[in-house]
Amino acid sequence: MSGTVALDDLVSWIRAFRDTVQQHKDELTQLDSAIGDADHGSNMARGLDAVVARLDPLPASPTDLFKTVGMTLVSSVGGASGPLYGTLFLRMGPALSEGEVDATTLGAALRAGVEGVVARGKAELGDKTMIDALSPAVDAWDTAAAAGATPADAARAAAEAAARGRDATEPLVARKGRASYLGERSAGHLDPGATSATMLLEALRDTLAAAE
Ligand code: ADP
Ligand code: MG
Repeated sequence: MSGTVALDDLVSWIRAFRDTVQQHKDELTQLDSAIGDADHGSNMARGLDAVVARLDPLPASPTDLFKTVGMTLVSSVGGASGPLYGTLFLRMGPALSEGEVDATTLGAALRAGVEGVVARGKAELGDKTMIDALSPAVDAWDTAAAAGATPADAARAAAEAAARGRDATEPLVARKGRASYLGERSAGHLDPGATSATMLLEALRDTLAAAE
């Protein structure tokens, strides 16, 4: 691949995200047991299994794909993360309704998705949520795309930024979601949602690198 991303690649991304979450389900649940209610791994794994079950037959377009992914997550995942990840994908779809998907349009779609998560969850950077991984990731994506990066290279930069954002959640005190009930005791643990959000970007990085 060079400059454009095919529908097949986007479907592979979602499948790869499911596979990664399945592989790390216990780790995500472990993180959520430290500062939440120990269901983030099982929530995400169940939701993504339901998503993958709906990818055959193949959606007709990127817009259809992300609509299916988003609606399935909203309806099948309990907890905060279902509606939030659902919103991310539901907002991505319309941003990809015209023309080819390239680094700029995929970056714009990711940004629309992350803005949807912010609008729904009201989390700001530093609140120790998935936003701490997602927000720097879309910024890094846009910087790379503006400099002429391929989608694969933009995804590399975004995944790195997400991982740094995830790691930076460890010392933070949570200000949103269940972890915020713990107050100061939420410090000293990685945020589960920032960890799964990094897996989302890493799945995209790996999928686009394989398609290159
Ligand atoms: P629940 O907290 O309802 O059990 P999960 O355990 O599946 O749901 O997901 C927890 C994750 O959701 C947190 O680690 C955090 O990243 C994310 N999260 C919670 N509330 C918000 C919010 N308001 N905005 C953004 N992300 C949030
Ligand atoms: Mg939980």
